[in-house]
Amino acid sequence: MKILCVYSVTSYSLKKELYCPADIPFGISFIATMLKKAGHDVRLAVVTPLADLNRMFKKILCDFDPGLICLTSVSSQMPMIRKVGKIIKENSPDIFVVLGGVHATLNPDETVALDFLDAICIGEGESAVCELASQLQEGKKPSGIKNLWIKDRVNGLVEKNSLHPFEEDLDELPFIDREMWEPYISQKEDMIYTVLAGRGCPNRCTFCSNHALSQITSGRYVRFRSPENIVEEIRQLLERDPMVSTVFLETETLGANLRYTYDLLGHLERFQAGLKRPLKFGTNLALNPRIRNNRKLLEAFRRANLNFFRIGLESGSEEIRNKVLRRPKYKNQDLIEFCRMAREYDIKYTVNILIGLPGESKKDFQETVRVTRLCRPTYGVSVCIFYPYPGTSLYNLCVEQNLLDARHGKSPSERTTSYLNLPEFTSWQIKMEYIFFYYKVFRGYEPMSKIMTKTLRYAVDAFPVFKQAISRGFHFAASMARK
Ligand code: SF4
Repeated sequence: MKILCVYSVTSYSLKKELYCPADIPFGISFIATMLKKAGHDVRLAVVTPLADLNRMFKKILCDFDPGLICLTSVSSQMPMIRKVGKIIKENSPDIFVVLGGVHATLNPDETVALDFLDAICIGEGESAVCELASQLQEGKKPSGIKNLWIKDRVNGLVEKNSLHPFEEDLDELPFIDREMWEPYISQKEDMIYTVLAGRGCPNRCTFCSNHALSQITSGRYVRFRSPENIVEEIRQLLERDPMVSTVFLETETLGANLRYTYDLLGHLERFQAGLKRPLKFGTNLALNPRIRNNRKLLEAFRRANLNFFRIGLESGSEEIRNKVLRRPKYKNQDLIEFCRMAREYDIKYTVNILIGLPGESKKDFQETVRVTRLCRPTYGVSVCIFYPYPGTSLYNLCVEQNLLDARHGKSPSERTTSYLNLPEFTSWQIKMEYIFFYYKVFRGYEPMSKIMTKTLRYAVDAFPVFKQAISRGFHFAASMARK
């Protein structure tokens, strides 16, 4: 059966849809890979706010003529997905369209009501979508598929099927097919790849979807792939592309299970020993009492050549962090000290920051700048303007306190614009702080030329119209060069 998988990106590279292989999303990739393995003819479509959706989808529908279209979306991608869905149904009303992803999972009633959808997938969708494809191929009216809510085209009634427990054994998942993403990736050198290490997080931060996702079904939510399975995927990656320089171990937080973490690091260390050229690793960490002051962990990182991690400060205000964000408990000084230790071991790190949080004042934000400076990030900062995702408890708080402005949910500009009306921190002030955050944190530490380049990039990201104009210029120049 011909199946089209659609992925939309709100933050795109100026030249292509994705910057590097590390931007390949796992959810839709696992589904596409499993569908391919089941013998289906699977194509990919990647859309950005720049795409001429009408032309693009009319051509795909005409040339490829799929029988099933799989969409995926988080809340901020929904405006684009709605446009795509409308075009599909206007041009090919008989195609079965299913939407999965975090937005549909956490907001199923509102999502399944969308006209262009025949079904939504709730939670982990690999086996559900494969079963759907096989029923459609057999000419059946899809029914009784766990994790799917299926809409009757005639009367609009929805069959709400129950959910499988969380996939127990992540080693059952295939290694994702990366080849299908190659045409969409701009970076061709110093390849950084991402390998899935685990799913789920034990923490309950209110701005993140994990606390809500962990409740949707039964079974263990925090899971890791076996070290052997991860090493085998990396080995195959290197076989396919010897230029791979770095592998990012994608999991919400590697330190969630320290025994597992040491086991994995031991496997990576032994794997490194057999390589001619050392491979670098990176991962995500959340500070918690077991990680704080943990030199043994940093030594194990070093031995495995895991020389980069991302870690969340989010807010320098301990009150906002504890009461509003419900972050794992740590003091600013704990993070500053952990970062200092990482520098001792020559391990680089990015500090994650959120700006424009409910209850945040300019004074709180100044504390964020101060603490981030003291953390001395050695691999930059990842700074985002807070975007309230429907289905999370912080979104609910924003609704209760009437903080959302009218643009929320209508614009694809995610994490670069504030959609909150905060009494002590205006949307414009938040945008300016977003643009100048890098400058404020790194002035005096890094060369001014680098700081200005980064600041310019944040400015481009903060104004999507500006970014779209530059990107269109790139595409135009590239097409002229080809002629
Ligand atoms: S630690 Fe990170 S992944 Fe885990 S709940 Fe908090 S924000 Fe989400």
